[in-house]
Amino acid sequence: MSPTVGVIGGGQLARMMVPPAVALGIELRVFAETHGASAALAATTVGDYRDAPAVLAFAEEVDVVTFDHEHVPQAVLAALVDRGVAVRPGPHALAFAQDKLAMRKRLTELAVPVPEWAAVASITDLEAFISEHGGSAVLKTPRGGYDGKGVRVVRDATEAVDWFERADSTGGGPILAEELVPFRRELSQVLARRASGETVLWPVVESIQRDGVCVETIAPAPDSAARLAGVAADIALTIAERLDVTGVLAVELFHTTDDRLLVNELAMRPHNSGHWTIDGSTTSQFEQHLRAILDLPLGATGCRDPWSVMVNVLGGPASGRLSDRYPTAFADQPTVKFHSYDKESRPGRKVGHVTAGGDDLEETVFRARAAAAFLED
Ligand code: ADP
Repeated sequence: MSPTVGVIGGGQLARMMVPPAVALGIELRVFAETHGASAALAATTVGDYRDAPAVLAFAEEVDVVTFDHEHVPQAVLAALVDRGVAVRPGPHALAFAQDKLAMRKRLTELAVPVPEWAAVASITDLEAFISEHGGSAVLKTPRGGYDGKGVRVVRDATEAVDWFERADSTGGGPILAEELVPFRRELSQVLARRASGETVLWPVVESIQRDGVCVETIAPAPDSAARLAGVAADIALTIAERLDVTGVLAVELFHTTDDRLLVNELAMRPHNSGHWTIDGSTTSQFEQHLRAILDLPLGATGCRDPWSVMVNVLGGPASGRLSDRYPTAFADQPTVKFHSYDKESRPGRKVGHVTAGGDDLEETVFRARAAAAFLED
């Protein structure tokens, strides 16, 4: 009998697990928030991931539960574990991808380099932090932020009055304050770890963000000397092992102007910075995630081309389907691989991506950007 994997969340990450599941004869079922979700091409149950009985009923029909997002509450995860469900990654690891304050605290304990940070509970705390950190701070809501939502740069504590008021009225705890890191670029180290411990890494990649959203990745990161790549790998391996992560782990890093690497964010699931692996690596992050959570030997992570460039396709003001633009896009860029998430286009929403591979970085970037531009409004 083929194993059955249940994915909580029906977004594009669950969707992109479908092709490797089909190839390997793994049955994939999705617990999605709505009908017509991006991953609805797999067998789908519609429900609320905060509803423990509904999630338990879904989990009873599968061998392993995994995730498309990190928002499932710990109480629901604990109910699954109590019922004997294999939850991968486990709640003890996921806690650090769910709460940025808990993550900063744990990584500091593990001596993993992070930006200077503090938990601030009041305007006075924040004023002190700002004056000790060169007159600015990056504020983050510990939970629920994504794509830069829940991140605000402030130069004066009064700019955060609304956040403290909301935290007071909702009984929320302290806010995370960080130094504004002077970085030259952002990198991401993606790896996969099996339940029994085997770990493999893809090369560290550069990720280019606009307004807090990843728009492009270059694999491997240009100008990444062996030393830099080695430090990124060591940091990610330490995190995977010490937090006991199962499945794919993405570690987002700042490469600072004084040549240090600091951890910004963790994701314990396939990640945008690993999408290039579908077309650019021997084993994609989606196949690897399935192998890892089923505790199967992991696949090779070599690159198919010297350079792989991934560009996200973001929705624009015009509605309409990506596929309406396929005739011109495909004709112009026959070497580029196109991916649609089958999502309704909304301004700024990630609705697809493209990946180009090649020997010459500049030319590969050009082809990937040109292909994405054909699909955008
Ligand atoms: P999210 O979880 O919403 O994606 P992040 O913490 O990754 O939020 O922050 C989004 C972006 O904001 C980062 O990719 C980076 O460009 C910028 N950023 C975040 N923290 C800092 C910081 N401490 N210093 C400088 N820039 C930051």
